[in-house]
Amino acid sequence: MSKIQMSTPIVEMDGDEMTRILWKMIKDELILPYVDLKTEYYDLGLENRNKTNDQVTIDSANATLKYKVAVKCATITPNAQRVKEYNLSSMWKSPNGTIRAMLDGTVFRTPIIIKGINPCVSNWKKPITLARHAYGDVYKNAEMKIDGPGKAELVFTKPDGTEVRELIHEFTGPGIIQGIHNTISSITSFAYACFDYALSLKQDLWFATKDTISKKYDHTFKDIFEDIYENEYKEKFEKAGIKYFYTLIDDAVARVVKEEGGFIWACKNYDGDVMSDMVSSAFGSLSMMTSVLVSPKGVFEYEAAHGTIQRHYYRYLEGEEPKSNPVATIFAWSGALKKRGELDSNNELKEFGERLEKAVVKTIESGIMTADLSRICSIDGAKSVNTHDFFEAIKANM
Ligand code: NAP
Ligand code: MG
Repeated sequence: MSKIQMSTPIVEMDGDEMTRILWKMIKDELILPYVDLKTEYYDLGLENRNKTNDQVTIDSANATLKYKVAVKCATITPNAQRVKEYNLSSMWKSPNGTIRAMLDGTVFRTPIIIKGINPCVSNWKKPITLARHAYGDVYKNAEMKIDGPGKAELVFTKPDGTEVRELIHEFTGPGIIQGIHNTISSITSFAYACFDYALSLKQDLWFATKDTISKKYDHTFKDIFEDIYENEYKEKFEKAGIKYFYTLIDDAVARVVKEEGGFIWACKNYDGDVMSDMVSSAFGSLSMMTSVLVSPKGVFEYEAAHGTIQRHYYRYLEGEEPKSNPVATIFAWSGALKKRGELDSNNELKEFGERLEKAVVKTIESGIMTADLSRICSIDGAKSVNTHDFFEAIKANM
């Protein structure tokens, strides 16, 4: 059988621990036998990030800007314990944070739906895609502990030195304060990414903030979305038969559980962080959630939504065979291959990505799956297998 050819590379960002093991297995067993794979490889494993003073992360993001499609393995975000474990010269920042800041994107997370693995919310029949704004707010905050009475103010200083002030609080005793920000350009690109993604999937777009309480901050998000929708997307949405729907965040949360799914839910950074974990675990498992960063620069970065599955890795180091669920990481690869195929008008590559996804779904629906899924599935005679045997079953279905 001749292998499928590629004209442009995909940026490959390798990662850490158990997902690094899965990464190699996916390439060796599910991709390389069929595709003459072209990638530009960056090793984002913690050891190499430390060795390159994290330059490799920056290089990989620049390569993504050049080639437009990347696939990323989960990576460790170091904390004090990891600094010791890996003997790091610095507590390197989250690679995802660095990459998102350079690509300025929106993260779309979608659960992979399988017949027989039923969401906890019984109404949900179709996937809910969560669109998370990936810049600013509490993730780029400045905060202070106040040890006693005093006046806290917001101060904005213009280049000419003039100041604008707003009282936060007159403290009569100890307390805490926090300053957060966002930029019009980042919110605008968030809105464009959401409207474009909704059109590409032909699904309704929901957006929600707390604009009744936050009359300037959150209201600005609402206004930007509304302006762009009215001026640039209303007709396109009507033609595609889809809707843009704005409501308050608490109303959105209450409605989401009553709907049957099949829409995109856009959230501010913090809401998106919390709600994507809620939506993915309510759909079944973090290991079945795909994630893509869509940047206004026309760039797509695919990954799994879960981390490096540290506990499984330590068991693997003690000699246990890999048993983790590779599905979200396989879908990161298939997503990148499909997008590469689409951008390069390479139909064979696109169809390969689709075939791989179908084979995975078919394998699980036939009752062959890893232990995390067999625990929660209602398929008769479901069998829990290790990662290697799961790959063998997928290959047979391909
Ligand atoms: P995790 O890797 O998401 O895993 C948490 C638990 O969820 C696992 O112990 C496992 O539960 C279950 N799980 C997750 N993915 C699974 C899979 N594919 N198959 C089977 N079970 C799966 O989170 P963590 O262990 O708390 O974090 C480990 C490291 O990942 C951290 O250093 C963190 O910085 C990093 N992280 C990276 C990213 C990223 O790069 N995108 C995202 C999040 C976290 P059981 O042990 O009960 O089986
Ligand atoms: Mg989270």
